[in-house]
Amino acid sequence: MIKRFGKFIQTPNYMLICACFFLLLQTAYPSAIFAQSNQTREEYDAEHRVAKKAESLMHAGKMQDAIMYLNAEMSQFPRSAILHFELGNAHLRAREFTRAIECYQQAVRLRNPFPEACLNAAYACIDAGMELQAIPWFHKYLRENPNSPRAKEVEAELLVAHAKAQMKEKRNFDAKQTLERAQQIAPDSEIVLFALARARSELGDTQGAIRAYEDLLKVNPRHSAALVNMAECYQTSGQLSQAVTWLKKYASNFPNAPDIVQIQNMIVALTEKSAEQRSDPQALDYAGAIVESGRYYRWPPNRLPIKVWVSQGDGVPGYKPEFRVGFFDALNSWMKASQGRLQYVLVNSKEQADLTAEWTGNPYDVKPTGHNVEQGVCLLASLDRGRDFIEIDRADIRILTIDRNNQQPLSDEEMKKTCLHELGHAMGLQGHSTNNHDIMFFSMSNTNWPVLSRRDKATLFILYQKYQPLMSAQY
Ligand SMILES: [Zn+2]
Repeated sequence: MIKRFGKFIQTPNYMLICACFFLLLQTAYPSAIFAQSNQTREEYDAEHRVAKKAESLMHAGKMQDAIMYLNAEMSQFPRSAILHFELGNAHLRAREFTRAIECYQQAVRLRNPFPEACLNAAYACIDAGMELQAIPWFHKYLRENPNSPRAKEVEAELLVAHAKAQMKEKRNFDAKQTLERAQQIAPDSEIVLFALARARSELGDTQGAIRAYEDLLKVNPRHSAALVNMAECYQTSGQLSQAVTWLKKYASNFPNAPDIVQIQNMIVALTEKSAEQRSDPQALDYAGAIVESGRYYRWPPNRLPIKVWVSQGDGVPGYKPEFRVGFFDALNSWMKASQGRLQYVLVNSKEQADLTAEWTGNPYDVKPTGHNVEQGVCLLASLDRGRDFIEIDRADIRILTIDRNNQQPLSDEEMKKTCLHELGHAMGLQGHSTNNHDIMFFSMSNTNWPVLSRRDKATLFILYQKYQPLMSAQY
């Protein structure tokens, strides 16, 4: 059984929302406002009571109750900026971003300037993934509150919004530079440090990402996403026991987290992996890591060319025809690496095939070992006839079309990597490399490319070098 570790948490939400609306209730409701308006003392007190009650519902985690309550009370105070603001906060915490933004807009229409509503509108835009819409809100805040003690932090957050938009356009290097500027403005900002770590990870700069997470965890040792992503960084660089250490920190800090079962499974899986025999990541090949009691798994000569069948993916959520193209690119890469010793033919049905590939949109279909952390799986049936190798009888690959962490369709590149990896197992590479530039490294990472490394090719060739070339290696 081969398991494949998927990516860890990608883009956790801004952690700032709470900090901001507590600020409001202490500062934005002083008597000065009451004095400016035409409100009577009684009206002011009534409005204040409603706001307080809504706040306590939110503190108790009852967002929908708070929303219903505020909507009911609103008829009495249709022009209350504060209650629109509170309603915005309740929607924001309920992750109803569009509604939240509408409420903040209304609050600002009713009272301008309203710095807290302005900032929360910006945060709601960012949480909704609309970074560019956040930018005018940040600018408005900075224009109206140039001397606020938060100004530096907000200026840095504005740069984070820019950087996030850059990352969406895959301009990761620009994003990293934007964020390094933000870090100079607000060196202790959790949001800046988190985004910087993510940008560096995307660029494959794992060490740089680790440094940013370290800085962030100095500011906030219980930053849940940083703890998990730190583990990802160490997993990516092949330091599995370190990865386990960080996952355990997460588990002990958040024993009731909704993803705790997945985290515990990762701890088990990575602990097993780290106990496995390691191979030198700098050697010319990693044949030592895929040998089992001195023998390799191989397709026997009489089963060549390999009979291949690949599902059309009809009706599979997230499936795109490009995935099939990527699969065949990947298969051809391995054929080429064999220098003509391996070849395949397509057959018309699954029953006729020895190597099958199917797609699924359900993460539970890709779960061979009970550790729910794989992006693809290759189930290999083998025959041991006591020869100097173990015969592969058949290989059945199943690939998840969506990223199991964020439920988004896999990009073509990530799909190609997954296909290359699972097909490597299907060709007989029954183990993993410890070099994170190899496709057979044990986790998908940004440090490997959707191509075979020199070591991947060398290792496959070692398996089949004694075979006769079936045809010239020209593809
Ligand atoms: Zn694998």
